[in-house]
Amino acid sequence: MNSAECFDDLGVAVATDEPLASHTWLGVGGAARYFCEPVDVDALTKVVRRCHERQVPIRVIGGGSNVLIASSGFDGMVVRLTGPQFCEIRAERPSIVAGAGAKLVHVVTAAVQAGLAGLETLVGIPGTIGGGLVGNASGRGGDIGQRVREVTVLTREGEIEVRSGSDLAFQSRWSNLDDAIILSCRLELEEEPVDTLTKRMQKQWILERAEQPSGTRTVAMMFQDPPGSTAASLISQSGAKERVVGNAAVSVSHANFVVTKPDCGSDDVRSLLEQVRAQVSERLSVNLTPQIEVW
Ligand SMILES: Cc1cc2nc3c(=O)[nH]c(=O)nc-3n(C[C@H](O)[C@H](O)[C@H](O)COP(=O)(O)OP(=O)(O)OC[C@H]3O[C@@H](n4cnc5c(N)ncnc54)[C@H](O)[C@@H]3O)c2cc1C
Repeated sequence: MNSAECFDDLGVAVATDEPLASHTWLGVGGAARYFCEPVDVDALTKVVRRCHERQVPIRVIGGGSNVLIASSGFDGMVVRLTGPQFCEIRAERPSIVAGAGAKLVHVVTAAVQAGLAGLETLVGIPGTIGGGLVGNASGRGGDIGQRVREVTVLTREGEIEVRSGSDLAFQSRWSNLDDAIILSCRLELEEEPVDTLTKRMQKQWILERAEQPSGTRTVAMMFQDPPGSTAASLISQSGAKERVVGNAAVSVSHANFVVTKPDCGSDDVRSLLEQVRAQVSERLSVNLTPQIEVW
């Protein structure tokens, strides 16, 4: 049993041995040595500074839709930005300002309701703004990075920084924001009638639902689409669609998703990913890049 003594004087509730599985979509993996949900930026800053002083590694978990937690868990501090200050969404025409803990779907909906266009095609993507910015979440109509004008972060040393222009870089499913804790961002959008935007968003929602595995929440996207192809079609062509390891299997409805059953272990998911990747490489000479991040 770990003790959170080194955080006791901060006035921030820090839990120990927090099971992380329930904070992820896949529902697998071990515990975090320390875990907290700071109420605001001040509380978060205290925790980040203390972790820096004591050399405790720190990670943020957003919606947990793109992480696979190892069975050994994480030997450090995991924070979730669930406090109201982190989840704020406000229209400042023609921009939307959103906290890193806000769900992407809520930000998209708020933009549409405010008559601000540019995010509708991201509507079906699970997770938070923070996770979406780190991995440059993308849908059919583009990625979130295209809309980002400014990002406020807390550095690992506990200093607030506002990044914009050439300080920001976004590429396919990647950004240079993985060195800090994202606090909020400003997304630049365009004015359009609410009715038009609502219809576009609903259409996109239906398309996304049809393409994603249905009937379960215990899923994750396995690989990124390589240029000119899709990971799903390559997995199907290679014959890896039938693969099952323990209680983890390739989704029947979409070959690029892994689905877990109750009692699945993190190692089952990991082995399945390795086997699928190896089969695609062996049969089709394509090396797939993992989408999901392994902790
Ligand atoms: C059913 C399903 C469909 C999906 N469809 C798509 C899709 O169409 N397009 C797409 O791009 N992705 C898709 N994904 C993948 C995933 O939803 C995205 O990558 C999403 O943006 C992850 O957000 P999250 O909040 O869940 O991040 P998490 O999984 O919680 O974390 C992902 C990474 O972001 C970091 N992070 C999170 N918040 C912060 C923060 N505030 N500051 C610093 N780092 C932070 C974490 O430390 C971690 O490194 C899909 C996943 C699923 C399960």
